[in-house]
Amino acid sequence: MCCSLAVRKSSKLITRSPSMDLPTIPQTNPGEEIFHFSHPQHPLVQVSYPYLFTCMGCKEYGAGKRFRCQICGFDLHDFCALAPPSLQNHPLHHKHQLVFYSKPGGFLRSKCDICNKSAKGFAFRCSSCSFEMHPCCATMSREMKFLTHQHPLTLSSPMAIMGGDSSLVCEVCQRKRSGHVYCCMACGYFLHAVCAKDLINGLHVHGIRPPEKSNMLGAAAKVASQALFGIIGGLIEGIGEGIGEALMDNFGNSRSRGIRNRDWQKC
Ligand SMILES: [Zn+2]
Ligand SMILES: [Zn+2]
Ligand SMILES: [Zn+2]
Ligand SMILES: [Zn+2]
Ligand SMILES: [Zn+2]
Ligand SMILES: [Zn+2]
Repeated sequence: MCCSLAVRKSSKLITRSPSMDLPTIPQTNPGEEIFHFSHPQHPLVQVSYPYLFTCMGCKEYGAGKRFRCQICGFDLHDFCALAPPSLQNHPLHHKHQLVFYSKPGGFLRSKCDICNKSAKGFAFRCSSCSFEMHPCCATMSREMKFLTHQHPLTLSSPMAIMGGDSSLVCEVCQRKRSGHVYCCMACGYFLHAVCAKDLINGLHVHGIRPPEKSNMLGAAAKVASQALFGIIGGLIEGIGEGIGEALMDNFGNSRSRGIRNRDWQKC
């Protein structure tokens, strides 16, 4: 963790004119085609669909605008696709240069210093200290205007706001969570940095709640198995029993494999 992020209680909050200009999103045009090093075989096109996707760069969710491979459905956030190789003077870590990495580093589990979630893919890392952040978090500023509140919000550590007393409740998720917090002290309005990301990555504006990873896997598996059983049921009724039974056996095998994999991931 880097101490430069902490805003001391006594120090005056930085006043800068509120701006929606995000530090690391260059302007692009819908329909624009790019080639990206992470998916060199096909071009990616900037499109906008109101559906949830998982960015293959940072492994986080997104919705709406994205760079998509129209051939195989590979998706990247716009800010991941267009991330510069390095950042100087970033408002959230201005002391040192930040370098873009496409893979998570080393043996240690890396965590983003802004949203406190693990960094599983693309990330900016400091070349001089252990500071690290997601590309999405790098689009955020110390002071920002969000659609959910009429005043600009200032990013602080929970320690700086409440002296470590984490009783503040975020207006978006209504929960207590770790990580940095955007706040309007005048109104007592709080927004987790991790929840602020959903206002940037398109989830909030498209009415999508970030799925809990494990629940989503479970739900997807359930839907898939129901659909498969439906198809297999139809096959058993329609065609000879031998084929249906063979399919059932195959399906049974793949399902138990899936469960084993999931158990393994928990360890
Ligand atoms: Zn991404
Ligand atoms: Zn492709
Ligand atoms: Zn982050
Ligand atoms: Zn640093
Ligand atoms: Zn929240
Ligand atoms: Zn306010």
